[in-house]
Amino acid sequence: MKAVRFLEVGRPAEIVDLPKPTPAPGEVLVRIAGAGVCHSDLHVLDEGIGIAGPFTLGHENAGWIAALGEGVTGWKEGDPVAVYGPWGCGACHTCQTSAENYCERHATIPTYGGGLGSDGGMAEYMIVPSARLLVPLGKLDPVTTAPLSDAALTPYHAIKTALPLLTPDATVLVLGVGGLGHMAVQILRALTPARLIAGDIDDVKLSHARELGATHTINTREKTATEEIRDLVGQRGVTVALDFVGAQATIDIAASVVGRNSRLSIVGLAGGTLHYAANNPPYGTQVTVPYWGSRTELMEVIALAQSGRIKATVETFPLEQANDVYQRLRDGKIQGRAILIP
Ligand code: NAD
Ligand code: ZN
Ligand code: ZN
Repeated sequence: MKAVRFLEVGRPAEIVDLPKPTPAPGEVLVRIAGAGVCHSDLHVLDEGIGIAGPFTLGHENAGWIAALGEGVTGWKEGDPVAVYGPWGCGACHTCQTSAENYCERHATIPTYGGGLGSDGGMAEYMIVPSARLLVPLGKLDPVTTAPLSDAALTPYHAIKTALPLLTPDATVLVLGVGGLGHMAVQILRALTPARLIAGDIDDVKLSHARELGATHTINTREKTATEEIRDLVGQRGVTVALDFVGAQATIDIAASVVGRNSRLSIVGLAGGTLHYAANNPPYGTQVTVPYWGSRTELMEVIALAQSGRIKATVETFPLEQANDVYQRLRDGKIQGRAILIP
């Protein structure tokens, strides 16, 4: 089978032929329908974030069950499934609550999950180590729903934990309207009445944000961006800032527009630093660095998609074009999420 492999930092991904894997006892073989192309792959390929190769890329996956390893029950061949991405130990207290994204034993596990240390879904087939990491998709099409398991789950987790602050008189700021950000806008529209300001450096992404329900959009390349946001929110400030870039520029904007008693969540991994001085960010600000989401949150995300309230904007490409697609993502030329189809 064809697979897109990460070898080492600074080298392009390699497209190779591998034997079709066979599930060991307890494992499940999934035939991949679509694998989302996440910006985190660029951090892995270009800068290195402490994940060693080689392995097959693709950590945002959906498909159909192709074979069950010995002892796996409750599922059958052909079932459409989303693959839950952050693989924990499955046994610690936090994993037992389904939040494997915060596994207590993460330091002793040599992988972050399939496509991030273990073989992922940019291939015709993928081994999932346990059926507990599968979520049924029901009637959703597995080809175009791969982004639910990261591009939607990650913002869903960041937003759900901020819900008590997202009242009708609050303002939420979304920075970066790419794969994660365009799902964040839809999730916010589905779950909260808060006013929604979206910021990006690309006017095409901003018009996409308006189509998806952003109340105001700001091109953050403009020197006046911070002032514009401050003018919109007044002295109360932004209540919840969600930074899906994590660059110095976006962290600085978020920190300077949040009000007292607000929340600043840094999701993007672009390497910026949050500086703190007295009352800056203002007193009462909760700073969070959310990572991915829990398996039950993925079930909630899938329910939102099944009800038609959220839908990834997708561009699909054959697996063989992986490196071209990565280049388009580097150049900011993907609208919504790119999906590789084996
Ligand atoms: P993407 O490339 O699809 O989208 C990034 C968006 O940010 C683009 O629209 C781009 O125009 C915009 N942008 C870039 N620089 C900007 C700036 N200075 N100001 C404003 N907007 C800017 O990326 P994605 O797949 O949505 O991922 C976003 C980030 O989130 C990446 O760093 C990724 O690694 C990270 N991520 C984190 C988690 C987590 O659990 N913490 C999970 C998934 C992805
Ligand atoms: Zn990702
Ligand atoms: Zn665990």
